[in-house]
Amino acid sequence: MRYPHIPWLPLLFYPALPVAAAAGLLLWQDWPPALALIVPYVPWVMALIGIAICLMYQRSQTMALMLSVLVAAAAWPALAEQAPWALGPALAWWALAYTINALWAERSSVLLDLAARLGLMASGAAAIALAGKEGTADFFSTLAVQGALARLGVPVEALAALLATGLTLTLLLLRYGRPQQAGQWLGFVCMAWALPRGAQHPVELALMSAAALTSLCISLAHEGFHMAFRDELTGLPGRRALNEKLQRMGRVYTLAMADVDHFKAFNDTHGHDVGDQVLRMVAAQLRRVSGGGHAYRYGGEEFTLVFPGKTAAESMPHLEAVRRAIEAYQMRLRDKPARPRTDQAGLRRRGARSGRNTRPLRVTVSIGVAERGDALRAPEAVIKAADQALYKAKDGGRNQVCSYGARRRSSAG
Ligand code: GH3
Ligand code: MG
Ligand code: MG
Repeated sequence: MRYPHIPWLPLLFYPALPVAAAAGLLLWQDWPPALALIVPYVPWVMALIGIAICLMYQRSQTMALMLSVLVAAAAWPALAEQAPWALGPALAWWALAYTINALWAERSSVLLDLAARLGLMASGAAAIALAGKEGTADFFSTLAVQGALARLGVPVEALAALLATGLTLTLLLLRYGRPQQAGQWLGFVCMAWALPRGAQHPVELALMSAAALTSLCISLAHEGFHMAFRDELTGLPGRRALNEKLQRMGRVYTLAMADVDHFKAFNDTHGHDVGDQVLRMVAAQLRRVSGGGHAYRYGGEEFTLVFPGKTAAESMPHLEAVRRAIEAYQMRLRDKPARPRTDQAGLRRRGARSGRNTRPLRVTVSIGVAERGDALRAPEAVIKAADQALYKAKDGGRNQVCSYGARRRSSAG
């Protein structure tokens, strides 16, 4: 069972800013002369910044992609002039190498990994150069693709590679939804648009490759932000993000501490993997809390919900709703097959969905609530009060929401 970690649309926002700026510059055609002079140098500056960040974060994959963008942008005008026949195969290879890099997971040693990636890209380029005009024409005519779509202006082998790369990167973005994939996707879109036109419009190519490199840089920075502030297991913001948020809160807010009931038992009975699955399910439910609440993973099996601008009384119904949603959630545990796979009759009897049996697991949480007030001014004091209310909820039999200082409590039926 998988829960989506981070929605991918917001991930595209920040790396899309330089792309939007570049597109705006292209639409605005009356460039001051100085701008046209500066633009060809911008990709070099952005690549330098990007490579420095890659070294800092040990990102050989992004570094290889950045170098491939920079080299393509720098070499394209010369290639168009000296070997125009090579533009199609080079574009196809560039796109293919981009896909390979994006799919190729990073290995432990940055330099070895980078050397392997650069070696692969260079050997493809060398193969095109060695085959020469006739060789590549022969190769593509044996593939029976040469000239088939000549009217599009993009050689068909390049078009196929661009489409395949675009599709692969889109699937990667949807599947993993991390800032890195968003940057890779946008960087590719910029180049897929600019490279086929690069021979006729070199300044445009320089501008779009600068945008591609800036997108990759921004997504690297965003990735670092995620590493620091997001919890890997649940995808929720973590303790550090909570502390930041609490520093910026206004005078009125409510904070709730939620703790999974008897969580140790899940780990002990079903193993750590199932424990992790429980945490992801609880996080996914808490993230959906209504009433403007924000969910954080406080640590271990404890979560924090923050309601800006709301009193404890106003937050209660939303907390109660989320408690009930978790209680009602039918979590299916996958068992090992009860019988060997060869027992066809047994499989058929169970519906044979996957040869696995499922049974529901009951998960509940206890929640303690406190609001900021005259007696509780500092965020630490509010957390402590919510913790005390949480103890009360545990003492009261678990699976309930208790408010700090309140005698009445809302509990499960
Ligand atoms: P209570 O109802 O009183 O809260 O009981 P409990 O068992 O939930 O409380 P306790 O604090 O004793 O257990 C917490 C356990 O959570 C201990 C620890 O092994 C486990 N745990 C902490 N973080 C993780 C994690 O990331 N994954 C998994 N699987 N287990 C974790
Ligand atoms: Mg606990
Ligand atoms: Mg617990």
